Amino acid sequence: MINIQHLKKAFGKNEVLKDITEEIKQGEVVVVIGPSGSGKSTFLRCLNLLEEPTDGEIIFEGTSLTGLNEQKLNQLRQKMGMVFQQFNLFPHMTVQKNLTISPVQTKGTNESEANSKAAKLLQQVGLEDKLDAYPSSLSGGQKQRVAIARALAMDPDVMLFDEPTSALDPEMVGEVLNVMNELAKSGMTMVVVTHEMGFAREVADRVLFMDDGHIVEQGTPEEIFQHPENPRTQDFLAKIL
Ligand code: ADP
Ligand code: MG
Repeated sequence: MINIQHLKKAFGKNEVLKDITEEIKQGEVVVVIGPSGSGKSTFLRCLNLLEEPTDGEIIFEGTSLTGLNEQKLNQLRQKMGMVFQQFNLFPHMTVQKNLTISPVQTKGTNESEANSKAAKLLQQVGLEDKLDAYPSSLSGGQKQRVAIARALAMDPDVMLFDEPTSALDPEMVGEVLNVMNELAKSGMTMVVVTHEMGFAREVADRVLFMDDGHIVEQGTPEEIFQHPENPRTQDFLAKIL
């Protein structure tokens, strides 16, 4: 589904991604772990060209994203949902409007269809009673579940998550991970940057360990957590587990 070929990204002289070649297959749940500053967010943002690669190619569903014109790129981007640490909901819109504005404005979905889809998605994330609420009245966990529903409202083929639970109070982490767990079970292709090792163990098909702009080691959760081979992976896991 996403084919990453010799991806490099530099900010000025700071080489953040150093020649990454990787493939995300349809239906796969790939969890990306690694120390702060290792390039995880930049990697994720390069997948949908929120960051423009310095070199290399991102091929999404057979089409190379690098070098596309803005209009074509935006069309393909709609197929890649993204969820951020900081929710990024539209504060001046109700939950319902948050979920319907993009389908209506960018895909031409009619209002009533978008509304019924929004209601269904809110049910899926356990927030069917929050249709008319504004984001400011929601808890962090609720906001993040709305953000997930909003991304799903665009019918994405893949969902990208960048530390979706890192800004949450501990008691709200579980409700968001549960929604992600259900989504994974439904067959959604997912790339998830997270420090939630329990989630990685339970839900990931594959774990990538990033350090210093490289994918240093990868494998099944069992391989990475029980038998890490690279000293840097061992060192990182020893610090966090
Ligand atoms: P991680 O998500 O693993 O913590 P990031 O991808 O956020 O790592 O950052 C990796 C490196 O890239 C850091 O050194 C960071 O300072 C740098 N970086 C990230 N985004 C930018 C940017 N927009 N401009 C300049 N430097 C950036
Ligand atoms: Mg990050």
